[in-house]
Amino acid sequence: MEMGRLVYEGKAKSLYEHPEEDDLLVMEFRDDITAFDMEKVDRVEGKGVCNCLISARLFEVLEDEGVPTHYVDLVDERRMVVERLDMFKLEVICRNIATGSLVKRLPFEEGEELDPPIVEFDYKSDEYGDPMVNMDHIRALGLASEDEVERMRELTLRVNEVLSEFLEERGIILVDFKLEFGVNPDGEIVVGDEISPDTCRFWDAETRESLDKDIFREDKGDVLAGYLEAARRILEGDEEKLAMLPG
Ligand code: ADP
Ligand code: UDP
Repeated sequence: MEMGRLVYEGKAKSLYEHPEEDDLLVMEFRDDITAFDMEKVDRVEGKGVCNCLISARLFEVLEDEGVPTHYVDLVDERRMVVERLDMFKLEVICRNIATGSLVKRLPFEEGEELDPPIVEFDYKSDEYGDPMVNMDHIRALGLASEDEVERMRELTLRVNEVLSEFLEERGIILVDFKLEFGVNPDGEIVVGDEISPDTCRFWDAETRESLDKDIFREDKGDVLAGYLEAARRILEGDEEKLAMLPG
């Protein structure tokens, strides 16, 4: 596919204009990996492909269950066509098991089950370090309305139900994850960005080993091997995408 103008280059993905449609974008998943507010930066060859294919598969699963997403189609193994969204400057985090920043901030036990799951909203800002915000902050900063926040919360819990079940069948525990939402050209709130080992914690159901970015954050071994293992399980039954995996 001929690529349009580069619209945005983030820490791990690049967005391009779609060559024909104004309402669409092409999202490219690069091999760059960062953690701790860019304190830790590296490149993991093949990571972008894993994240692109995993995201595509999970977006398809969500669409099949009636959850609206920005996903349109794959271009190739590291690029997908998505709807152009007007993004909320919010990250919505959902947690089924206490770990990561939660156990540093509050007296939860590492590995403790959270039932019902906990949903949090963070202000998406590298400058401010993505601080957690409540409805009063969101309203005062004009980030979203009460109805929009309620809709994002409802969709996040639905995503959690659908993906937890899908992943459980593949021997993966969905520990926690981050979503980003935006408004599509039809005025509908949909799930945007990516759903991948960069943005979710995936634990092997038997060993509780990480198959996600914690391997990189905590120097726990071969990052690509973990992402590939997650990809193989998630893409099981989807021969077309499996064939596009590296190695
Ligand atoms: P970051 O901006 O955090 O460095 P990325 O490298 O992942 O992150 O860049 C992707 C950017 O694209 C993010 O800022 C994200 O909010 C934005 N984005 C994701 N999906 C869409 C979409 N469908 N339309 C417009 N922007 C999007
Ligand atoms: N997360 C993310 N982007 C962020 C912050 C968090 O994708 O900017 C994801 C992270 O991968 C994990 C979940 O959200 O799956 C919860 O992360 P947490 O708040 O524990 O932060 P961390 O420990 O990653 O700093």
